[in-house]
Amino acid sequence: MKIHFCSQCGSDNIHYRVPDGDHCPRYICHECQFIHYQNPNIIAGCLVTHDDKVLLCKRAIQPKKGMWTLPAGFMENHETIAQAAHRETWEEARARVDLDQLYTIFNLPHINQVYVIYYGELRGDQFAPGPESLQVRLFSTEEIPWDELAFPTIRETLKLYIQDRERGKLGLHCGDIVRPWVLADPKNATLKNLVSH
Ligand SMILES: [Zn+2]
Repeated sequence: MKIHFCSQCGSDNIHYRVPDGDHCPRYICHECQFIHYQNPNIIAGCLVTHDDKVLLCKRAIQPKKGMWTLPAGFMENHETIAQAAHRETWEEARARVDLDQLYTIFNLPHINQVYVIYYGELRGDQFAPGPESLQVRLFSTEEIPWDELAFPTIRETLKLYIQDRERGKLGLHCGDIVRPWVLADPKNATLKNLVSH
């Protein structure tokens, strides 16, 4: 993201160059010397299950409005990943969850994101759409709306979950989603370098 004004002093005397001793170009303020580092964002979420069904949220907001997703969103400052997963699950699905384990980690280098998805079980049986969801419901694995999933990270997490259920053991899976998500063809995004534990 291009930076026009210094976040520290407000100057527009910003230059894009490699700082001394660094290896990447950065936006540097030539008034106060502040270096504007830009780093990947972490998105935390949760694969919530109940009676062998998975909880999905139909998005009420762009991007991908009307498509189904796992509860997930950008981590906030001063938060742990698990706290973010709990918070997003509450905000999007009005559900409380008992987190069992870390489940998938996906690098999305083309959009500077890292997805971290936990696996957990719905606490009680209550859930409802939060402000960012049109609908929240439990899907059996046969009912998953594969053609209406919002993001490749969600599709890959659900595919891994089905494989893991078939072999009777949940793993921990790390991989890279290396191609941009193409609107017209959701299958264009590819999972590479998958390592499962
Ligand atoms: Zn400055």
